[in-house]
Amino acid sequence: MRLSQMLFVTLREDPAEAEIPSHKLLLRAGYMRRVASGVYAYLPLLWRVLGKVSEIVRQEMNATGAQECLLPQLQPAELWQESGRWETYTKAEGIMFALTDRRDQALGLGPTHEEVITAIARDMIRSYRQLPLHLYQIQTKFRDEIRPRFGLMRGREFIMKDGYSFHTDAESLKETYQDMYAAYSNILRRCGLAFRAVEADSGAIGGSGSTEFMVLADAGEDEVLYSEDGQYAANVEKAVSLPVDAVPSEFSEYQVLDTPNTPTIESLAQLLSCSPTQIVKNVLYVAGFDSGKQVPVLVTIRGDQDVNDVKLQNELTKLAADYGGTAVLSLEVPDAEAQAAWLAKPLPLGYISPGVGDDYLKAPNKDFVPKFLRLLDQTAVDLENFVTGSDQTGRHVVGATWGKQFTLPQRVVDVRKAAAGDRTLHDPNQVLQTARGIEIGHIFQLGSKYSQALGATYTNEAGQEIPLEMGCYGVGVSRLAQAAVEQSYDKNGIIWPVAIAPYQAIVVIPNLNAADQVAAAEQLYADLTAAGIETLLDDRNERAGVKFKDADLIGIPFRIVTGRSLKDGKVEVVKRATGEAEELALDAVVPTLQGWIAEALG
Ligand code: ATP
Ligand code: MG
Repeated sequence: MRLSQMLFVTLREDPAEAEIPSHKLLLRAGYMRRVASGVYAYLPLLWRVLGKVSEIVRQEMNATGAQECLLPQLQPAELWQESGRWETYTKAEGIMFALTDRRDQALGLGPTHEEVITAIARDMIRSYRQLPLHLYQIQTKFRDEIRPRFGLMRGREFIMKDGYSFHTDAESLKETYQDMYAAYSNILRRCGLAFRAVEADSGAIGGSGSTEFMVLADAGEDEVLYSEDGQYAANVEKAVSLPVDAVPSEFSEYQVLDTPNTPTIESLAQLLSCSPTQIVKNVLYVAGFDSGKQVPVLVTIRGDQDVNDVKLQNELTKLAADYGGTAVLSLEVPDAEAQAAWLAKPLPLGYISPGVGDDYLKAPNKDFVPKFLRLLDQTAVDLENFVTGSDQTGRHVVGATWGKQFTLPQRVVDVRKAAAGDRTLHDPNQVLQTARGIEIGHIFQLGSKYSQALGATYTNEAGQEIPLEMGCYGVGVSRLAQAAVEQSYDKNGIIWPVAIAPYQAIVVIPNLNAADQVAAAEQLYADLTAAGIETLLDDRNERAGVKFKDADLIGIPFRIVTGRSLKDGKVEVVKRATGEAEELALDAVVPTLQGWIAEALG
């Protein structure tokens, strides 16, 4: 491709809309343009990158026996009603774009395809002889993200590979899951990315396991906790660990003490000169269920610990049936304004006890449940002589014990957030380390949630009808492309891994008025192209300095300059990643680059 004929516009300044390096660079180097919040035009250079990523994904998927297809983006509401996800995905914080057609039918733009594929399986799979089966597609997904940001990292329209597998039993599902683990590792390795596979939250779906593939980078939105020996790595949402031991309490006698201005654990521990591990903290949430019920939730946990909202949401989902629902639509720490609607009298915030009475609550409407759902985190169960609120502003109790001053809440749960510095379960001598990660892929053993909801069954050898076991597997193709930049750039621009670079080589003519430079460059461009090396020719009427800067900015792995050394029959060849330059005889250029590219593609 000749740069003079390409839509090629680079920016000198960092665009104001971009916060992280990869986002800035892709905009500056002319790879993409923002059209609306979270919506981008993929320009020709980026489209080539996305094509290469997709092709690697396709090859690795096909190698496992999965088959490519293309499912509709426009999906009827009925399918989502059957799975029970229409409300969750379109109300409150739901991320599905929903619309109504001219016949007044409700539709959604596909954020994911479990419903569609399960409906197809229901129609087409009859017998165990058809199983296992794995279908995948590479397609644009739509999600009305609450916080679209960082360019392609969190878009509202983005490219995903999603695959769904169907099985007779959990054993067979596990085999495909392991194949996917290997395929995803291959994809990321071939794309030139450093990554870590981590245990992930399976959310409300439960399922028997899920793994996320994280590209490690400071700009990552996820936190990964891992042990130094490499044996344990998990998303913080899922991570488990041993909390530090509680310091035995110095308070042996139950007392109510004046503790003015101590609404936080820190201020209280300071005033009483005690360890936060001796304090019992009570955190108020309001959960909104899909039945419409709003429930005040009181989580009681050891003072030095924080609540993991994902674990809490999972626990609440298990209790949804008690409130006539199946899912949690919202989980919030209510502000003063929200509280005012359902408080019968002001709550002594910061001084609440585990036994705070339900008489603080009233029901402003039939949906609000005026009774605390009380959950006790494991960390607070064994505490003795602890410190906690007194239900009076400015006062706390010390020396309290379960069963004496306070009834032990019945529902004991694990909702504590694991943190860097905690000891690991497999080896208490190891402590958890923390890193930021960009989630590129997620593989998931779904089980029969969707097949049961939609009635997708098969007949086994004994003639019985059984719900299909399912797995699902997603890779963010466009997110991966940007993550590669986030992992590989320098002050001059992008440094693409060879496997996904839009072009492998760029031939630069420093001076268009020098006939020998032009002739040599044209010949090299023709030879490289004929040899199957994807090559750009910078034949623009620009200063040499501008051309060198642009070549660095767009990150093409190998640059060939037809400059001064032509008089010796040589050209300069520069490797973008290392800046190494060498002079090669004209006829050595093609074989040398072929060698380098083969080596890089390994
Ligand atoms: P996240 O937690 O980052 O929102 P997710 O759990 O919603 O991701 P999945 O539903 O598992 O993601 O989707 C599969 C893959 O699609 C993700 O691993 C990610 O790489 C990509 N992806 C998800 N949401 C977006 C988005 N808004 N923009 C770009 N890529 C995305
Ligand atoms: Mg998401």
